Amino acid sequence: MKHTVDFRFFPGYTRKSVTFTMDDGNVTWDKVLLDIVRPCGLRGTFNLCSHILKAFDAAGYRDFYRDQEIANHVRFHPMAMTPARADFSFSDAPLDPANAAERTFYKTEIEGYYTFTERGRVYGVATVPTYLSFTEQSRAALEDIFGEGRVTGFVWPYSEQDNEELREALRNSGVSYMRKTGCVFDSLQYHFPPDRMAWSYTTDSYHLLSCAKDYIAAADDGELRFFCFGVHAVDFERAGNWEDLREVCRLIGNRPEEYYYAPVIELFRYEDAVRSLVVTDEEVINPSDVTLYGVVDGRRVELLPHGTYRFA
Ligand SMILES: [Zn+2]
Repeated sequence: MKHTVDFRFFPGYTRKSVTFTMDDGNVTWDKVLLDIVRPCGLRGTFNLCSHILKAFDAAGYRDFYRDQEIANHVRFHPMAMTPARADFSFSDAPLDPANAAERTFYKTEIEGYYTFTERGRVYGVATVPTYLSFTEQSRAALEDIFGEGRVTGFVWPYSEQDNEELREALRNSGVSYMRKTGCVFDSLQYHFPPDRMAWSYTTDSYHLLSCAKDYIAAADDGELRFFCFGVHAVDFERAGNWEDLREVCRLIGNRPEEYYYAPVIELFRYEDAVRSLVVTDEEVINPSDVTLYGVVDGRRVELLPHGTYRFA
């Protein structure tokens, strides 16, 4: 007998997930955001730079971001050397922002790390080896706080940098994903990112409400869906649209049968688990570490980690 097997469901037997990704670890605005999303059951990812962790002690940080994912946003939030700045000259003097020359990198006390000004703003830029060492230092410092093996995602400061050597080195550094910047709702239509090493969020705070309403209305196409909003909590403050976030929470929060709430990395791992499922003529095997939810011959089936379901 031929069996119908469909395990493309999240817990709650829904196909729609909701998450968020927030950069920079500004605890003032992250708190406002968490106070809105937590009571609605939403969970997400906060992308922190190790050098800014001054608001609390380690236990304080663990409590503040409890139940959320922490990803690495790189110590000093640097840019990388790119072809667009290949003609910059180098100065041994320290940067004086008021008198800085155009298109000039100024040395800092850290080898391979420079500062420059552009339109009155000061930026840091690192050579590839220094960028990689800032990345590793940040991950290690974050894991000292949040736990070993807990910080696997990488989020580009200033979005993806035009430096293939760096991109390649990061891709091969053991990160679980690399996120860049920019809304992708037009191109992806709430599907999971096809390339986790160059993915971005569905919508920013400005388009969140309209995008969420579109997501709510989106018809089931049999695939697992991914809805991730970004990208800084302070964006809601700057745009004066905290009320949009509250409305989205009213519309999609506290509905575990309709939406699955988890941080980015948990959603990616869940997608991997669903893809790892093995269906033979006799049974369905779950080789993963998570419980999977399916419908087999019209009946709901919960398949425990490393569990097997035998067809009747
Ligand atoms: Zn940032």
